[in-house]
Amino acid sequence: MEGMADITIPAELLPADGRFGCGPSKVRNEQLADLLAAASILGTSHRQAPVKTLVGSVRAGFSELFRLPEGYEVVLGNGGSTAFWDIAAAGLINRRSAHLDFGEFGSKFVTSASAPWLDAPHVVQTPGGTRGVLEPVDGVDVYAYPHNETSTGVMAPVRRIGIAPDALTVVDATSAAGGIDLDVAETDVYYFAPQKNFAGDGGLWFALMSPAAIERAYAIGESDRYIPPFLSLTAAIDNSRLNQTLNTPALATLVLLDSQLRWMNESGGLAWAHARTAESSSHLYDWASAHALATPFVADPDHRSQVVVTIDLDDSVDAARVAAVLRANGIVDTEPYRKLGRNQLRIATFVAIDPDDVRQLTRSIDHVLEALAD
Ligand SMILES: *Cc1c(COP(=O)(O)O)cnc(C)c1O
Repeated sequence: MEGMADITIPAELLPADGRFGCGPSKVRNEQLADLLAAASILGTSHRQAPVKTLVGSVRAGFSELFRLPEGYEVVLGNGGSTAFWDIAAAGLINRRSAHLDFGEFGSKFVTSASAPWLDAPHVVQTPGGTRGVLEPVDGVDVYAYPHNETSTGVMAPVRRIGIAPDALTVVDATSAAGGIDLDVAETDVYYFAPQKNFAGDGGLWFALMSPAAIERAYAIGESDRYIPPFLSLTAAIDNSRLNQTLNTPALATLVLLDSQLRWMNESGGLAWAHARTAESSSHLYDWASAHALATPFVADPDHRSQVVVTIDLDDSVDAARVAAVLRANGIVDTEPYRKLGRNQLRIATFVAIDPDDVRQLTRSIDHVLEALAD
């Protein structure tokens, strides 16, 4: 067997860009050019017109991309999707939530929703690589599930559960948003962060909120419940309406995001993005299904994610070693989600990632698998 330092993937097999991580994920060079062009905004006050205009442009970009239904609003704040779980527990769940938990991210929201001022959540939990079904439950006022579970590569159809305003459907779209088409009217809150399909950096959260969700936020905000100021959803809504954030946002992230949104909207919007991620992910699933040493981790083809592809390797091959060889050759972040603990490669097929590069990636993996078998 060769040492991994000895395995050199021939240049003609390499992707042009070797970033396949699930977040932070590939940022396109055109975005970086736009960042340089916007240099005069960096280092200026977020309370003045240039940054407010930028925030307004990002909000308008999301409205266009998601064909935002009448009355829905684009709300944003600092802290990423993880902050939004605590914001929802503080200001969106009235008494009790129900969750579909089929991986790490879904289960983290369950933890936040297990707050002492709420009734214990109803949870439908299934093992990694599968997903369950969430049915209406008496007394539940928020139904929550991830659109895409990034830790396992399982996606769920976006459908309303229960009837608003008594029941709100709250979807974690952190890794799905912008890469999978949907009808936003099937949700009350569709929330995400910029470092996945939107190719920005982490640190912000965005939520597309229905009128019922906004009404709920103000009802709880005006109730006796104590809400830590930083977690106030109504403060976020009030600020967002003015193209502001409660505290200072990362301006470079907003510029990168604005650039990516312009590219997506000009290229054909969400339908185009959906087709592009489907092309990349289908290639990977077809490759794995046909390969003697590889198998798609998610058994049910209907559950397989089109933005995060998980591929198990045969026990005769050490996936960690394959990922390390790829890394040594400039192809990075194909390691599996650490807590899943499988002999696996995990590959993002976000919109920014070129389908041609995904085809080169499988050529590169083929080369590494052959070299390791020698
Ligand atoms: C990445 C991710 C998160 C965490 O996002 P942060 O912005 O880092 O808090 C949450 N949910 C899902 C589905 C994710 O993929």
